[in-house]
Amino acid sequence: MRLTRPFRIIFCSAAMLFQLSAMAQNNKIVPPVHQSIQASANQMADQLVQIRRTLHQHPELAGKEQQTQAFLQKHLVNLGLEVITQTNGYGIIGVLKTGKKGKKIAWRADMDALPNDFPDPVDFKSTQAGVQHGCGHDIHMTIALGMAQVLAKNNEQLSGSFYFIFQTEEETFVGAKKLLDNQIAQLHLDEIYGLHVTAMTAGQIMVKPNEIFAYQKRVQLRFNKTLDKEAIQEISQLLDAGLSRSMTNSKPWEMQQILDPKIGLSNDKTIFQDYCFLNQPYSAYTEKEEQILATDLYETNAQKIPLIIPQIKKILAASKYGSNLSAVSFIQENITVNNDPKLTGLAIQTLDQIYGKDFVVKAYGQVPFFNDDFAFYQQKIPGVYFLFGGSNFEKGWIAMNHAPNFMVDESCLLSGVKYFSSLLVERAKPTL
Ligand SMILES: [Zn+2]
Ligand SMILES: [Zn+2]
Repeated sequence: MRLTRPFRIIFCSAAMLFQLSAMAQNNKIVPPVHQSIQASANQMADQLVQIRRTLHQHPELAGKEQQTQAFLQKHLVNLGLEVITQTNGYGIIGVLKTGKKGKKIAWRADMDALPNDFPDPVDFKSTQAGVQHGCGHDIHMTIALGMAQVLAKNNEQLSGSFYFIFQTEEETFVGAKKLLDNQIAQLHLDEIYGLHVTAMTAGQIMVKPNEIFAYQKRVQLRFNKTLDKEAIQEISQLLDAGLSRSMTNSKPWEMQQILDPKIGLSNDKTIFQDYCFLNQPYSAYTEKEEQILATDLYETNAQKIPLIIPQIKKILAASKYGSNLSAVSFIQENITVNNDPKLTGLAIQTLDQIYGKDFVVKAYGQVPFFNDDFAFYQQKIPGVYFLFGGSNFEKGWIAMNHAPNFMVDESCLLSGVKYFSSLLVERAKPTL
């Protein structure tokens, strides 16, 4: 999960001690294949924790995931999976074929760690100075390996084929593109799925159709003369007044609100549904006689994006800075994770059927500040990206990605293996 700007998160208030919905109780009979999946997953509960801790102790930065690849390869080969290592880097794809008719379903896990040196109050700390799994990709890899193991063990009951894509360089937003340029097109995948562990209660799944994150654009303004601090402040205020949009009295840039039951993502009246804001303060520097300003803009509505630059020009043209403005442009813009509406609906239905009514928490808003290069797969292959809880609020373990106190409740490993193995099994069936 790529963080597009540093932010401050304070996840300490008692208000956070809640669950988005009561975890569904499953009173109905679980189909035999899913009973087998759950039993196989239960058997590897301790192993999952061991795998995660090994990965956590040996994090590698984007583009340097060589040891991680070797570790994954060993496990996948031991499971009897075919492996593809020609991935234009240190990625690896494990392929599980059932030999029976069905669809080709992919699951993606990212591999890279962060260049951080935060305190990590666990016994299995990083052994690499300045490198940490502070975004939870160790959790993602462990869940994916667990799924591969569970499905391999139950192969005879399954149909179709499964592709476990372990992808490098997510944080730098280049890994998915590298894989798509090389291997993925040749695999003719039917559907792709993936998750990101985040600050909800461990084991909770949250999803929505279409965009999961807001669109982020880095806006650059160039002026033909240098500007003083007051002028820069005035310009940012003018643009804020002219461009920002949010629900009355709401502050969608306050990330600690995303889990609030009344205004957070899970409420259909969420403040994260429709907004646009620009980060303050702008970065400012001069180049020769030119003044250059830049900031990040977050917009939920794709249709409003083409209007942004003309609006900025219009706002400034009507101000005393109009004659000084020489150019406005986006200097960084990425696509965003965009879930296939039909597959999202089917995934919710499948998980609710197996694990209980209203098991999956529906999201209604878009998260600012983050993005994931999973978006690039979705341009080629219909797919769904889930937010997956890793926090334990009672114990004060908050899985807020990139935050200094990032901490994961490892119970989410086993839950993740069960739920998403069940999902892939159902999706690979030929009839669905
Ligand atoms: Zn990240
Ligand atoms: Zn991440």
